[in-house]
Amino acid sequence: MTTIAVLGSANMDLVVRQQRLPRPGETIFGDAFTTVPGGKGLNQAVAAARLGAEVVFLGAVGDDDYGRRIRSLLEAEGIDTAGLATAQAPTGTAHVQVTASGENSIVVVRGANATITTLDAAQEAAIRSATVLVMQFELPLGLVDEAARIAQDAGVLTVLTPAPVLAPPQGLLERVGIVVPNEIEAMALTGASGPERAAELLSGLAEWAIVTLGAEGSIIAHRGEVLGHAPARPVRAVDTTAAGDTFVGGLIARLGAGDDVVEAVRWGTAAASVTVTREGATSSMPRLAEVAPLLG
Ligand code: ADP
Repeated sequence: MTTIAVLGSANMDLVVRQQRLPRPGETIFGDAFTTVPGGKGLNQAVAAARLGAEVVFLGAVGDDDYGRRIRSLLEAEGIDTAGLATAQAPTGTAHVQVTASGENSIVVVRGANATITTLDAAQEAAIRSATVLVMQFELPLGLVDEAARIAQDAGVLTVLTPAPVLAPPQGLLERVGIVVPNEIEAMALTGASGPERAAELLSGLAEWAIVTLGAEGSIIAHRGEVLGHAPARPVRAVDTTAAGDTFVGGLIARLGAGDDVVEAVRWGTAAASVTVTREGATSSMPRLAEVAPLLG
């Protein structure tokens, strides 16, 4: 059985819809409040599981209602939570304010996500026996680096979304098989002035770089050279939340199934094109039966 190990963040997103952002010191009324499980790790894990991948989630939540809700969401998606620790800290929260004009501002309190600073034996074993290890930069970077070393030692392919933009630990990108930033992250990481150059530079460190360009699709680069441009599917986008995480979910699900990078990008592109046509984060992610017909 091939498995995808996702080592990443799980948060409860606390979302307030409001007419505008308050000024410092000001109190205003909001229009609506919702709580939605999120975090890049959780989102990517759910996207991959919906496309048929066998996923194990490695991370931490608190011993609280948000943590229990996140654990049951992952389990309802068929994701293995044996490596999801219960930490002595509250579940991570993202405090999101969305205005009527679509502007948003977000404060993340990392909580339990910040408490995992080293892997336990079971988490290490899950990485060693996986086909693909998937990570982002929302957990402590020392842990990300430790996991990448273990994966490299075990011959496991690592896929990294370097978000949020942080300076990577020395040598991390060289241990990664595929790095998947969006264009803003790619340019910030490399200092390049355009996404093609950023893709070339990143694929000179990691073996592959896939730089996503929103409605413009993505750039695929291998060992310092751009191989091509994968166009996005033309759709009427209503909410691009979790587009990138769905793209990665599709990519890793198909890599785990043995597809090559170019074919896996086709799947990521198709899956993300469905997500952007619906409101929501995990709630907008498609299942295999909806994506497979798009690929003809
Ligand atoms: P992120 O959400 O990480 O910023 P992007 O916005 O680059 O990532 O989107 C990731 C992928 O999702 C794109 O490569 C593309 O395939 C798909 N996508 C994003 N926006 C659209 C859109 N408006 N129409 C169709 N596909 C989209």
